[in-house]
Amino acid sequence: MTRAWISEAAQAREAQIGALIAGLDADGLERLLLAAVERNRAIHEQECVNLDPAANVMNPRAEALLAAGLSSRPSLGWPGAKYETGLEAIEEVEVLAMDLATRVFGAGYAEVRVPSGAIGNLYCFMATCSPGDAIVVPPPTVAGHVTHHQRGAAGLFGLRIHHAPIDAVRYTVDTDGLASMVAEVRPALVTIGGSLNLAPHPVRAVADIAHRHGARVMYDAAHVSGLLAGGVWPNPLDQGADLVSMSTYKSLGGPAGGLVLTNDAGLAERIDAIAHPGLTANYDAGVVAALAMSLLDWQVHGYAYAAAMVANAQALAGELAGRGLPVVATPLGHTMSHQLAVRADEWGGGDAAAVRLRRANLLASGIGLPDGEGLRLGTSEATRWGMGTSVMTELAGLIHDALRGDPAEVAPRVSAFKARFGTVQFVR
Ligand SMILES: *Cc1c(COP(=O)(O)O)cnc(C)c1O
Repeated sequence: MTRAWISEAAQAREAQIGALIAGLDADGLERLLLAAVERNRAIHEQECVNLDPAANVMNPRAEALLAAGLSSRPSLGWPGAKYETGLEAIEEVEVLAMDLATRVFGAGYAEVRVPSGAIGNLYCFMATCSPGDAIVVPPPTVAGHVTHHQRGAAGLFGLRIHHAPIDAVRYTVDTDGLASMVAEVRPALVTIGGSLNLAPHPVRAVADIAHRHGARVMYDAAHVSGLLAGGVWPNPLDQGADLVSMSTYKSLGGPAGGLVLTNDAGLAERIDAIAHPGLTANYDAGVVAALAMSLLDWQVHGYAYAAAMVANAQALAGELAGRGLPVVATPLGHTMSHQLAVRADEWGGGDAAAVRLRRANLLASGIGLPDGEGLRLGTSEATRWGMGTSVMTELAGLIHDALRGDPAEVAPRVSAFKARFGTVQFVR
């Protein structure tokens, strides 16, 4: 089953795993499976410090709900009018989660039957556009996401994609250039927000431009979801965005899933019909229950957690810059969010820098920058393990030594550092 179309490195890794599993019977395969699951926990919860802003650790009480007998129960349709019977309890989970989401995010309507942030974006595209329509989106140079591009949901849905002109200084779209582009291409939708958010995006200006030309605005909050829930980032719905789509496992620290918010009843009705019967029959009620448990944490500890993430990111960025590392900055400083970026030319690109950090037990990833590649770091998970600003000096030292020194020498120091932070914080 060689997949000739994947990279040589991927083919080699698949072959290596193929050799491991070859000839094993069901018991042998189960042992291997369970060992891999344990090993994953050790990597992420003991050996490494995860500085990928797309990563987080769940409240164990939320995680437990993923294995509580909900996920195998089909639940199609509206509460009180379901297609199947016996769903009285799941209806309570569903309505509770929707209600909590509207409260935590200050939104009129919340759609929880969303399998992922990517599918949440597709829901938004389908609710506002028809195939063949134009959309204007942030390009990869300001961390616009593939779901908005040709190879992602937008392209697969048949939208004509226009990359917005960028403001390389503020690391977002350029609103003057956007106004000209929107007047010319007449998009049905303008999107804003991406995978690296160093300062709030000009949502109000984007919405004014889009609405003047009859276009809708979708804010992609996949990464800033936790900052929104904690109230430390401007709420795009208050600034004119028509739709907000997000992932629920990144800074929000919930299960892998998606969430779509709007204040517009007409759009909410379309999203509802896209969720069901459009793109899902059943949804995963276990994920929705885990999301509800996570949102309860946000109701109680949201501001403290979000503010701590941002304080940590600012402290870490300052410490890294102080050690001579090329930390990206906007006129508002290194970062206003939980994310930061380091120019990665020195290591042959962001992905190469991330691979180097992995050898030091530090997890991160690459990211596009206006003039090259960056290494993207974030504090969502570190903060949740209880690392505060007082240890960002130490953490910056480890990152610096891994990037400029010998990663293998740093690896045990990172594990020893992580061992001091073993309990998930900001949970009820
Ligand atoms: C991660 C991400 C997504 C997709 O999220 P999934 O939940 O992983 O599908 C969408 N948009 C942006 C900007 C992202 O960074």
